[in-house]
Amino acid sequence: MRPYPINLVSIVIPVYNEEASLPELLRRTEAACQQLHQPYEIVLVDDGSRDDSADLLEQAASRPDSPVVAVILNRNYGQHAAIMAGFEQCKGDVIITLDADLQNPPEEIPRLVAQAELGYDVVATVRSNRQDSALRRWPSKLINLAVQRSTGVAMSDYGCMLRAYRRTIVDAMLACRERSTFIPILANSFARHTTEILVTHAEREHGESKYSPMRLINLMFDLITCMTTTPLRLLSIVGFAMAGLGVLFAMTLIFLRLVFGASWAGHGTFVLFAVLFVFTGGQFIGMGLLGEYLGRMYSDVRARPRFFIEKVLRSQPAASNPAVTVDGLVSTSSDQVLS
Ligand code: UDP
Ligand code: MG
Repeated sequence: MRPYPINLVSIVIPVYNEEASLPELLRRTEAACQQLHQPYEIVLVDDGSRDDSADLLEQAASRPDSPVVAVILNRNYGQHAAIMAGFEQCKGDVIITLDADLQNPPEEIPRLVAQAELGYDVVATVRSNRQDSALRRWPSKLINLAVQRSTGVAMSDYGCMLRAYRRTIVDAMLACRERSTFIPILANSFARHTTEILVTHAEREHGESKYSPMRLINLMFDLITCMTTTPLRLLSIVGFAMAGLGVLFAMTLIFLRLVFGASWAGHGTFVLFAVLFVFTGGQFIGMGLLGEYLGRMYSDVRARPRFFIEKVLRSQPAASNPAVTVDGLVSTSSDQVLS
C-alpha cells in the first residue's frame, strides 16, 4: 500500500427535510474541514425536501467564496441515490459521505482523510456508542452478519455512512448502471485496501429518522440484491433437498412395507406424501433454474464494469520520444512511464 496524494477533499451530504440541523451542520463541517491540510468542497444534495432545506443550501452556496456546492434534486429519490448525485458533482481525490442529521460528528473528517492518505481505498467507521433504539440495532446486526458471510469482506458496521472513498472507487460506482444501490457494499466490491476506525455516534437532535419500517425493508432488499443473487440459488438447493428427502422417505416406506406388511404403511397414504415431496422439490428446482437465468440477466442489466484499471504502464509512445535511427526506423524508449 502506497501513500495517496490528496489535492482536494469532497464532503458529500444527502439532505432530506433537515432544515433544523443544517445551520449547525454547515458550521461544524466547515470548522472540521479547516483543520485539513488540503482544499475542500462541501457538496450538499437536497433530496426533494418539503421544508426550507433547499433554500438554506442555495443561500449557503451563494455566499462569496463559499466551499458549499448545492445540488438540488427535483424530488425525493432516497438517501443512496442522493449520495450518487453528489458523487457525480464532486471533484475531490477523496470523497467523504456523512449524514445531515449530525449523528455522525463532522469533527471526525480529518481522521478519515488521514487514513485515506495512507493509501486505503475505503475508510469505514464503527459507531462506538450507537445511539439508536434496539429495534434499529438488531436488524443491522443481522445485516452485517449476512454481508460478512456472503461477500467475505469483514466490516462491522454497514449502517454508518460516515465513510471515505478514493476517487477510483467513486468512479467505479458511478459506472454501475443499476438503479437500486447500497453504497457501502458497492464500494467494497471495488476496494482492495479497506480499514475501519472507531467514531462516536450522537443521538438525532432534530426531527425523526427518515426511514419508516417499509423503507427499511426496501433498503434491506437493496442491500441483499446489491451484493448477491444467492437467494435465487437457494431455491434450487431447497428443491434438491426436498426431492432427495422425498426419495429417501419413499425408500424407507417400501422397506417398512416389506418388513411389516400393508397395514403398517397406512394403505399407501404415506407414499402419497413421499411423492408430493419429490414433486414439490422438482418445482423448486425448476424455479431455481429460472432464478439462475434471472440472476445472470440482472447482472447484465445493471452492467457493472467487469474490472477497473488503476493504471497502465507501457513504454513511451514513439511520437513523443522518437529516436530515429540511420535507416529511418523509429525505435521507442524502453523507459517505463505512467499513462
Ligand atoms: N435522507 C435522504 N433522503 C431520504 C432519506 C434520508 O437524503 O429519502 C438523508 C437524511 O437527510 C440524512 C441521511 O439520509 O442526512 C440519513 O437519514 P436518517 O438520519 O433519517 O437515517 P437513519 O440515521 O435513521 O438511518
Ligand atoms: Mg440518522
